[in-house]
Amino acid sequence: MKILVTNDDGIHAPGIKFLAEALSELGETFVVAPDRERSAVGHALTLHHPLRAANVALNVFAVDGTPTDCVNLGIHCLLPFKPDIVISGINRGGNLGDDITYSGTVSAAMEATLMGIPAFAVSLVTGGEGANYPAAASFAVKLASMIVTQGLPVDTFLNVNVPDLPEGSLRSALITRQGKRVYEGTIVNKVDPRGRDYYWIGTADLNFLAIEGSDFAAVSRGHISVTPLHTDLTNYNSFAQLNSWNLT
Ligand code: MN
Repeated sequence: MKILVTNDDGIHAPGIKFLAEALSELGETFVVAPDRERSAVGHALTLHHPLRAANVALNVFAVDGTPTDCVNLGIHCLLPFKPDIVISGINRGGNLGDDITYSGTVSAAMEATLMGIPAFAVSLVTGGEGANYPAAASFAVKLASMIVTQGLPVDTFLNVNVPDLPEGSLRSALITRQGKRVYEGTIVNKVDPRGRDYYWIGTADLNFLAIEGSDFAAVSRGHISVTPLHTDLTNYNSFAQLNSWNLT
């Protein structure tokens, strides 16, 4: 099996090391990841300056770009093969509900999907340093071999969230739907040393709507959440209402 690993926490993050090491038992594993943390850059692609890739270890490249840049450079330039699968993570912190729209981790998997390569994102739902990357990594290995043997549904990639629990306490994996976060005011407004206002967007506690079958519901009960995503954002349910407007 030929594997490309990336992330948005950067090449030095613990999650990507656990992930790449675990996946290397399945086949030849290359890491192409941002040279620093690029969390919450979404699906950004760098167009206005050149990118550099440093070969920092055997089969490991650090790129001064986004996760989406890394997938592009990896597949088109750096890897000696087209990978069978692209895996993004293990992110430090969950990628749940609407937050996936900000996620560089999830966007890297989306980019691979746009290129026709099976992919998934994997995140450890932790508020701290993250104790149990090994459990998330071993689930990623199991899922990767399943995907390569069974294939994914057309245009589908997976968003995996693993609760930060000891392996014995982790419950089964559930197929879930994208949940809904409850947003609260989290922007800090203060005055800088030169007397000017500044604003700093913070992170809220993980409050979420109690939607049965959602990613939030699964991880809150100790289950691994596997949400199938697709890149078609069309809201088909809205067609009848919008067509009734008779826009010409
Ligand atoms: Mn991140």
